[in-house]
Amino acid sequence: MMTGRFEEMTVLITGAGSGIGQETSLAFAETGAVVIGVDRSEDGLGATAALIASTGARFEALVADVGDEGSVAVAFEQAATITGRIDCAFNNAGITQSSTLAADIGHEEWERVMRINVTGVWLCMRAEIGLMLRQGGGSIVNTASFLSLHSMAMQTAYVASKHAVLGLTRNAAIEYAASDIRINAVAPGGIPTGMMAQSLADVDEAGREAARKAIGDMHPMKRLGTPREIAQAVLFLSSADAAFVTGACLSVDGGWAAL
Ligand code: NAD
Repeated sequence: MMTGRFEEMTVLITGAGSGIGQETSLAFAETGAVVIGVDRSEDGLGATAALIASTGARFEALVADVGDEGSVAVAFEQAATITGRIDCAFNNAGITQSSTLAADIGHEEWERVMRINVTGVWLCMRAEIGLMLRQGGGSIVNTASFLSLHSMAMQTAYVASKHAVLGLTRNAAIEYAASDIRINAVAPGGIPTGMMAQSLADVDEAGREAARKAIGDMHPMKRLGTPREIAQAVLFLSSADAAFVTGACLSVDGGWAAL
């Protein structure tokens, strides 16, 4: 184990079955937390459980769709019985959209992106805040994006959803600041995960490598980030080191947001 920074703490992470959520689950486990992983993919949660097994930490997997009110209610009912607390929550599950001009996005796709990326964060925050008010405080981190702060052609639904995540974060942060619930956002730049692979699914392998390099080159540091670099920021925001930080958006993007 790295340190016991989160020992005796229970952390709930959505989108824990892949990419940033999986790596953050592992990072919390390495610091002694009990991790509750929520994902719609049972296989993904199984892979995360296998990774965490080597740390000796406790990992509980809950299969749920964060964009479905009933599914979230059942998941949080179960989550509340695991240790009786949720000290930290990381609302990270999200999806991308197809590469489409604003006026050509289908209504169904628009609704799917909003349901998972925006309503999903709100539904989970609602449940977490209820629990945290009863237990006397806690910390919530939401996954925003470089695209919470900037635009990108052919990504209107995704960009709108990530701007909304930042609005949700800031507004809830001021409402619950006096109740000892800190609510912050992490805004990743380009990270090679399942989501990026999906965005490049139509490109052949050689083209994919070139596209990944081109995305990396958009960052002032001239590279993509890693899931671990996002996880470290989430651990900081969730920890006592960030005790006076709420309503903040921490960019972890190799300088991209500063352009
Ligand atoms: P990923 O696809 O590897 O992981 C996303 C996880 O969320 C998957 O395990 C998936 O099964 C889960 N998920 C999706 N919809 C769900 C739902 N309705 N209910 C429950 N689980 C669901 O992608 P990632 O890059 O790790 O994405 C994590 C977050 O990071 C997302 O919110 C994404 O928008 C954000 N983000 C990613 C990047 C990047 O470049 N990868 C950049 C900025 C922000």
